[in-house]
Amino acid sequence: MSFDYDLFVIGGGSGGVRAARIAAGEHGARVALAEESRMGGTCVIRGCVPKKLMIFASQAGLMAEEMRGYGWEGAQAGRFDWEVFKQKLDAELTRLELIYTANLTKSGVEIFHQRATIVDHHTVALADGTRKTAKHILIAAGGRPALPGIPGEELGLISDDLFLLESLPRRVLLVGGGYIACEFATILAGLGCETVQVYRGDAVLRGFDRQARDLATLQLSEVGIDLRLNVTPIALERAADRIAVTFSDNSRDDFDAVIFATGRTPHTKGLGLENTGVHLDPNGAIGVDEWSQTSVPSIFAVGDVTDRVNLTPVAIREGHAFADTIFGGRARKVDHTTIASAVYLRPHEVAQIGLTEEQAQARGDVDVYATVFRPMRSMFAGSNAKVMMKLLVDPESDRVLGCHIFGPDAGEMIQLAAIPITMGATKADFDATMAVHPTAAEELVTMRQPARRHRRAIPAQAATA
Ligand code: NDP
Repeated sequence: MSFDYDLFVIGGGSGGVRAARIAAGEHGARVALAEESRMGGTCVIRGCVPKKLMIFASQAGLMAEEMRGYGWEGAQAGRFDWEVFKQKLDAELTRLELIYTANLTKSGVEIFHQRATIVDHHTVALADGTRKTAKHILIAAGGRPALPGIPGEELGLISDDLFLLESLPRRVLLVGGGYIACEFATILAGLGCETVQVYRGDAVLRGFDRQARDLATLQLSEVGIDLRLNVTPIALERAADRIAVTFSDNSRDDFDAVIFATGRTPHTKGLGLENTGVHLDPNGAIGVDEWSQTSVPSIFAVGDVTDRVNLTPVAIREGHAFADTIFGGRARKVDHTTIASAVYLRPHEVAQIGLTEEQAQARGDVDVYATVFRPMRSMFAGSNAKVMMKLLVDPESDRVLGCHIFGPDAGEMIQLAAIPITMGATKADFDATMAVHPTAAEELVTMRQPARRHRRAIPAQAATA
């Protein structure tokens, strides 16, 4: 049977674009890609890239404060002009979008700027009614923000909306305690918005190392965010030009804007998957095996739509491995076990790789090398901000099981620490590495004694046997 293409990709985000480019550009496959929105997907258009630029914009106040501590009398951040920033941001995103499009075209990928749905195992329907056939279909449709399902939630915004605001809200509520809520609370407070963040748990960033979570929770309050823990909104109502919110503790408050950052779900609705028999997990994610292959042999899926590890570099790696395996004659799987990530808070970021202390303890014996200190740079300026560095070490093999950093540029540090840790480095390898002085990161190679040792309790019977 002959097909229009070897591969049809649905979704022009990180995973889809990488798969299409490698399949067409490196392996000579005939490839088409459909994207209903702007090329680049969540990361480039409404996620990582604009978010990081907003983080940079939001730190002027902290920088001015630090400079006053260094003798720059009267150093002030001045007035932030959202319109100026937004115009530059829009221009930058357009530039990146054009680069993505040009790179696809250069690789020989045919682009359809419209929605595509799946008709059968080898056929895709475009929004204009045309149908295309392909030997393989790759679904890289990403994820979408999930709302908590409370009355009046339609009055709230989601993270996508933030990049489109005409003006900044004077008083804003962030709902959630994950990556997005914490990063956006930091950004909006830094840009001068009166910011309230509510989280239903007792410390933000569930899933991260507890010590890092506690430091991040404290920092959010210290940078001027009104962080309310163990509470969650239960209803929103319009109140003149504001939004009145009722919380689970019966308190009420009103805001100019409410932003839900309560997780994301795989974007599988309306894709036509019911026509294919592709197996979906209970949360709506596309079920795939280690080769990103679905239950239908001709249909594959990568990135957030599969809800494995929802991070851009993971989607890129999955898309690349898929293209190499299917079109390059090089079978490649993605290892999802040891993946570093960072949460871009200010002044200190949270970054991690491997097991948390709690996970390592549950796994077995672990030595915890940890240090908490005030770094030279901010301490001189009079700040009490603390840095935390932690290595979790298996006492038997000496292997480093996890690394956690709370500090300035922790994201940059963990990227480098991720290399030896992915290679299977031991604590002795870290110890053998000469320090770079004076840096904060040198602490990673100078921690000599464990701060604590967790040992599995030996059952009484086994101990006496
Ligand atoms: P997360 O899963 O990180 O956080 C969701 C937050 O919302 C949690 O605090 C969760 O609470 C809370 N929540 C969930 N449901 C409800 C509810 N019904 N009512 C109240 N609170 C609720 O999701 P995000 O939206 O922050 O981010 C989505 C994904 O995007 C992340 O998982 C991450 O992979 C990726 N991302 C990565 C970034 C980075 O690498 N820097 C930046 C931004 C996003 P609880 O913890 O109690 O479940």
